Order: sequence, then structure tokens, then C-alpha cells
Amino acid sequence: MADYDLAIIGGGLNGASLARDAAGRGLRVILIEQGDLASAASAAGPPLIHGDPALLERRRWWRVRTQLAERERWIVNAPHLVRPMRFAVPLHPKERPPSLLRAGLMFYDRLASPTALPLSQTVDVTHHPIGNPLQRPFGIAFEYSDAVVDATRLVVANAVDAAERGAVIMTGARCVRADRGDAWRLAVIDRGHRRLISARALANTTGAWAQTVNETILRQPPLPRQLRPLQASQMLLPRLFDTDNVYVFQHRDGRLIFASPYERDFSLVGSVTHAFTGDPAIVAMPARDITYFCEALARYLRAPVHPTDVVRTLSGVNLAQNVKGVPRDGVLLFDPGRRRAPLITMLGGEITTARRRAERAVSLLTPFYPMSPRWTATARLPGGDFAWDRFDTEVDIARERWRFLSEREAQRLVGAYGSRLAQVLGEAKNRDELGQAFGPELTEAEVRYLMTKEWARFPEDILWRRTKLGLTMQPSDRDALAVFMGGVA
Ligand SMILES: Cc1cc2nc3c(=O)[nH]c(=O)nc-3n(C[C@H](O)[C@H](O)[C@H](O)COP(=O)(O)OP(=O)(O)OC[C@H]3O[C@@H](n4cnc5c(N)ncnc54)[C@H](O)[C@@H]3O)c2cc1C
Repeated sequence: MADYDLAIIGGGLNGASLARDAAGRGLRVILIEQGDLASAASAAGPPLIHGDPALLERRRWWRVRTQLAERERWIVNAPHLVRPMRFAVPLHPKERPPSLLRAGLMFYDRLASPTALPLSQTVDVTHHPIGNPLQRPFGIAFEYSDAVVDATRLVVANAVDAAERGAVIMTGARCVRADRGDAWRLAVIDRGHRRLISARALANTTGAWAQTVNETILRQPPLPRQLRPLQASQMLLPRLFDTDNVYVFQHRDGRLIFASPYERDFSLVGSVTHAFTGDPAIVAMPARDITYFCEALARYLRAPVHPTDVVRTLSGVNLAQNVKGVPRDGVLLFDPGRRRAPLITMLGGEITTARRRAERAVSLLTPFYPMSPRWTATARLPGGDFAWDRFDTEVDIARERWRFLSEREAQRLVGAYGSRLAQVLGEAKNRDELGQAFGPELTEAEVRYLMTKEWARFPEDILWRRTKLGLTMQPSDRDALAVFMGGVA
């Protein structure tokens, strides 16, 4: 008998979502990730849970409707990680006409299932905080509702749920060979040791590596030639505006650029995509993309933004396919095998629809195994056991229970761990009981939690993916964290 029902190679959003869905349906699952969870494309796309309004212009109404239905599910099922926001589109005299935008957003409201999110509206920005960072000529903006997400924590939360439902999650483990027979037999290098694993089905969720993995490790026929590597990039700047809005700026070429609040003191500006050649492990944002964003911002904001203001850039590569000029929402291929073990290939796509993509992928295996029905549409992610409109109440409750937490700390911790915060902070009565401090915000208790429950192995895993504290942490605190983690591992 094979060791597992399903082996998944690749721990991005697609791999983790697949692991969660399959484990919850009773399959024995193993996920194999060569680096850290969410360390590649899953950290590089726009962190939005939305029905892309740009798709309305291309008459992809059904797709937008599906996205909006998934948006509602995320808001309810992951209220700590997915936060509704008001998006503001300042009207630019040289861009889309106001009547078109207004009609589009009204249609957008109607495509959403009945929701408690406020409808779109027209705002006179000369008397509204939205107007504060904007240049004077801007008089009107449209406001509508959508949501932002902590994408890397979403991947980790999926993996945590999968593990709690029995899945084995291996990070720092690289699949180097897979032989296909009546089962898949995988060779995995796990921290220097070669391990052999067998599984009744295999999923290739290796994103930008999928073509290479398919041909050289799985030795299968090539993936469709229409799949092309695409690079997405975003940049972080010191906070551009005070309001809790996501701004949507229209650039000269018609592209929509998002600028969203990020970790209180920063703004995330993105995203731009273009064709990529080279090694996906070595990807950097080109200087011309930074200039492109700065130009877009200069058309709207009062304060100039210079390339030298950029604090950090985020880039990743995935394979994508365009159909009539519109990017497909991810790739899902299924090879049932004909007397050999099945193979799923799943990569790319929007964060918003990842749950649904995984559900469809696992359902493809129903002829092969007995499994329980679809379940993720109504299941909370770990930490999501509170009502979506009670985030601030959860923060108040946390400050009541752990009185030493500042408002800022409580916001961050509830945003990361939600209703599971007690697993991180325990019964601590004061800061000292949380152990060694690594700067003002990170404590030994949190680091230990992340190492034992969320597969963090190196400081980078904590500073950039489990948290974003790398943005503010001092080098001496980083060094202390590295020493501490080296001692625990
Ligand atoms: C160009 C681009 C455009 C995007 N556009 C959007 C968008 O419009 N909207 C949106 O919501 N999101 C967008 N995103 C982000 C989107 O969320 C991601 O594409 C998505 O998270 C899916 O990533 P993935 O799981 O397919 O791949 P990844 O996150 O890249 O995960 C693949 C993983 O496989 C691992 N791996 C590779 N080879 C091996 C091996 N041999 N053994 C073990 N592990 C291996 C890698 O280390 C990597 O972690 C975009 C991303 C990109 C790059």
C-alpha cells in the first residue's frame, strides 16, 4: 500500500490549499516544499481579495461574480487575514470617463451576493479625507468595497489546517525524482537525507518550476506551450496617506495601480506584470518598473515619490496563459493516468479563487478514492472563529486579557493569529513572561510558536512571511533572533 493518497510538490498558495482540501476530505496527504511556505510567487501578487473590476471592461461577468462569491467566503472564514476595505478611484480627467466608471461600479455591486459591505458611492474629495494626499485638481472619487489579505499568512493558515487534519507538511525538502507506476515513488532530499515516499496520486504545484519539474523530475510530456513565465512586482514605500483606503490609480496606458496601507507605517504599490526569462529563483524588480509606479503616483499624489524612497520590492514568477488577451485564472490540468497513478498540475491564478481551484482539483480524484464531500466553502481557517465585523472587538478583548499589549501590538497579533492568540501568548501576565525580546514587538513566545506550529526554521521565515517585522527590526535584534533560532533548531 502507498504511504499517502496524495503527494503535493510545492508549498505556495496552490499547494497549501490543495493539501487543506484533500486532508479535510479524508485523504492521507504529504506536502513537500523545497524552501519555506509562500516563499515564491504566492508572496508576489497583489494581496487583494476582490472581483477584479478591470475584468468588467472585458465582459468577463461570470468570472467577476465567482470572484465576488469567493470574496464573501474569505471575509467570513478568515476575518483575521482578510479585511474589507474601501477602495478609492480618484477621477482623472484624461482617463476612463466618470459615467463608465460609475456604471461599472454599480454593476459590480449588483454582481456581489447580498453582503453587509457598503455599496459604491461618489465622494467629493475636496471635503473628504480621501482627498488629503491628492493633488488639487481632483474633485471627485468613486469609492467601492473590496478586501485585502495577508497572502503569506493565508498560505501558512491553509498548511496549519491541513496538518491539523492529518497532512504531513515538509519544508526544506526538495523532490528530486518521481517515478510513475501504479503509484508514484518519490525521492526527496530532506535536510541532507534522501527519503523515499510513495503516493497514489501526485500534484505538481511548483509554480514557475512546474515545466522543469514536469519534464526532468516527473519525466512527463511537456505542459502546454501556451504557458509562459510571467513576473509580477510590487514595491513598498513609507506610508503615502493616512486613511485606511486602498487607492486605485489609472495610469496613462489604462492599467490600474493599487496603493494599499501595509503594516501601518508603509504603503504597498502594485502590481505590474511582464514576460520573464531566466531562473525563477533569481528574480528582481527591474528599475523601469519602479519608475513606472513613481510616474503613476506622480499623476495623483501631492508629495512626489522617488525611486530612492522604495523600502523593499517584491517580485515573483509563475506560469500563466492568456486567452484573447485576458489572463486565465490559473492552470488546472488532470492526467488520470490510464492504469498508472494520476497527476494533477495546478499553478498560478488569483488568491481570491484559490480555495475553489483546490476544491475542483481534489474533486478530480473522486473516481479514484472514496472521500467525503466538498467542505471548505463554509469552514473557518485556523484563528478565524469570530464574526468578520468584530475585528476591533477581538483587539479590545486581547488587550483586556493581556494588559501589557499596546493597541498596535494587539492589532498585529490579532491580525496574524486571530482567535488562536492564546496559543501564542498563553497565560502571560507581563512582557517578561514571554521570554527574550527581539526588538519591541517580537518575543520568544511567538518565535517558539512559529517554530513548533508553523514550520519557521530561519529568521527570514519569521521576519518576512509569518510576520512582516523585518520591515522595522534592527540588525542587532535580527542577529539575536538568528542566534536564538539556531539554538532551538
Ligand atoms: C505574474 C504573477 C501574476 C499574479 N497575478 C495575480 C493576480 O492578478 N491576482 C492574485 O490574486 N494573485 C496574483 N498572483 C499571485 C498568485 O497568488 C500566485 O500566483 C499564487 O499564489 C499561486 O502560486 P503557486 O502556488 O502556483 O506557486 P508558488 O507560490 O511559486 O509556489 C511554488 C512552490 O514550489 C516550490 N518548488 C519548486 N520546485 C520544487 C521541488 N522540486 N520540490 C519541492 N518544492 C518545489 C517552490 O519553492 C515554491 O515555493 C500573481 C503572481 C504572479 C507571479
